[in-house]
Amino acid sequence: MPLCISRRWHLRQLIAASSLILLVACAEKPTAADAQPLQSIPAVPAPAVIPPVMPSGENLDIQPTQTFAQWQEAFRKDALAAGIRAELFDRAFANVTPDMSVIRADRSQPEFSRPVWEYLNGALSPVRVRKGQLLLEQYGPILQSIEQRYGVDRQALVSVWGMESNFGSFQGSQSVIRSLATLAYEGRRPAFAHAQLIAALQILQQGDIEPEKMLGSWAGAMGQTQFIPTTYNTHAVDFDGDGRRDIWGSPTDALASTAHYLQSSGWQKGQPWGFEVQLANGFDYVLADGAIRKTVAEWRQLGVSLPNGASVPAGAEQLSAALLLPAGYRGPAFLILDNFRAILKYNNSSSYALAVGLLSERFGGGGTINGEWPKDDLPLSRSERIELQTLLSAQHYDAGTADGIIGANTRKAIRAAQQSFGWPADGYPTQKLLQGLRNR
Ligand code: CA
Repeated sequence: MPLCISRRWHLRQLIAASSLILLVACAEKPTAADAQPLQSIPAVPAPAVIPPVMPSGENLDIQPTQTFAQWQEAFRKDALAAGIRAELFDRAFANVTPDMSVIRADRSQPEFSRPVWEYLNGALSPVRVRKGQLLLEQYGPILQSIEQRYGVDRQALVSVWGMESNFGSFQGSQSVIRSLATLAYEGRRPAFAHAQLIAALQILQQGDIEPEKMLGSWAGAMGQTQFIPTTYNTHAVDFDGDGRRDIWGSPTDALASTAHYLQSSGWQKGQPWGFEVQLANGFDYVLADGAIRKTVAEWRQLGVSLPNGASVPAGAEQLSAALLLPAGYRGPAFLILDNFRAILKYNNSSSYALAVGLLSERFGGGGTINGEWPKDDLPLSRSERIELQTLLSAQHYDAGTADGIIGANTRKAIRAAQQSFGWPADGYPTQKLLQGLRNR
């Protein structure tokens, strides 16, 4: 039963009132979510496998309208109505208490963001590349049958595996039932957590995993693929044939489940994710917008070329592409194709998709970037992004809600402001733009 949220109480009062303070000492272990720096990238949405938190304004104070025991009793009725057996429910919930580390993680809104080039440096570390190369060899025959079954290229599968859980070594060590129960009881998205918790109980009921072994991140992303329970129920597969869909302990099941998900997300076997390009002088940066798609051939007519005399990948001329400038017009540029969009369905962050694409190429010795990153252009902090949005809206460029999230409305407002200064309208938030708006 989703929790009602009221506005008056501070988290501190909530903790005291519901005796949760006793739990503060529990569970500060690193999780898979900690190992993934995805949310630290500015101006990109949160992962798709875990839907983004809706902007909630500055007031995060909440007050539970019931005790955890009351919530659990009501939720038990919902679960049984959804077909969960009573004895399974009671076993899964034996000794489950709210997890304060989950509440803290759910509330945290990082002030500072890592620049995309630093994120890529971590994601594409030589150690990870080497490990991926070894695993491509070790799992060669299995990857070949997975490729044949699902039509997803093996380098992409191993790349996602490396990004999601460092090839299975960072899966998260928190109880999925406990985390999701905490979030369903008093998280910011109780309805979402409620649905995930029912799905998690269904997984237990199918016998794929024991409750004690169902571990994951604080947000309930599980196993080597970091699937949330509903994604597991629709896409996890038993590829090694032992009768269990084991994305925690079986790399074969994890790789095949990833392939199944990417196949459903529109993966095109043999096509590139995209490729680096360079832009002619005077190029209209307004075109660098994910919503604007043209064939590669059309982009070339508009002044998009390949660096160092490289040629367009075979067969790509007529593919539909968008132009991506991950660090604005001063940084590298990429044309991104359908497979990039498929990766975004795994995790809706362009930095993440770029890392997956580049890592999959690094395994074969490619995936290097020619363009220079604008390293003097540090990302705006959260409060600076909010200030930028506020200034834009005050100066009649409607940036939408000042929530620190650079979405389509804010980008549009940034482009309009950039044009008013006579600057390239790439829609990218910079210190220079913030300063320019402050000085007006
Ligand atoms: Ca299996």
